[in-house]
Amino acid sequence: MRSKVAIYPGSFDPPTFGHMNIVERGLGIFEKIIIAVAHNTSKRSLFRPEERVALLKKLFKGRKDVEIDTFEGLLVEYARRKKTNAILRGLRTVADYEYELQMSFANKNLDPKLETIFMMTESRFSHISSTIIKEIAYFGGSVKGLVHPLVAKTIQAKLKERA
Ligand code: ADP
Repeated sequence: MRSKVAIYPGSFDPPTFGHMNIVERGLGIFEKIIIAVAHNTSKRSLFRPEERVALLKKLFKGRKDVEIDTFEGLLVEYARRKKTNAILRGLRTVADYEYELQMSFANKNLDPKLETIFMMTESRFSHISSTIIKEIAYFGGSVKGLVHPLVAKTIQAKLKERA
């Protein structure tokens, strides 16, 4: 199966400029990218999956080459449902590499046809992670230049709501 569609799965809690950069560069290779927000993550989250989907939909509004979706359960099953065998992931650090290697092996075991394509972060985004964004915002720091202004505003509102 040759695929023109890639799934970009992740937590996106919240989406950052690093994520957005991977999507834009991914579109240099694939005709369409499905950003798939994972439901079953063990990470403690700031936003509910529906909220992350809503945010991503606003960030990519009007884009026919970007679809926003959520999925629960195994990625291989989701990829089958979406009729693609291409998974897109980003790499920043050695820690990312170790985690991604395990994940891609696990997925290959479940479905040998599934291919994970890795894109190296751009150096200007290499320090950006959703976790860091949450930490900075929690302690009152500025996340300008790290996330879209809409995301920054939504984080502020969420932190106020939680306070
Ligand atoms: P997950 O919990 O599945 O790792 P994330 O939302 O943290 O979900 O990340 C989704 C994907 O995006 C991962 O492949 C991650 O390595 C990649 N990614 C996140 N931030 C960046 C960045 N700044 N540059 C490149 N890739 C990134």
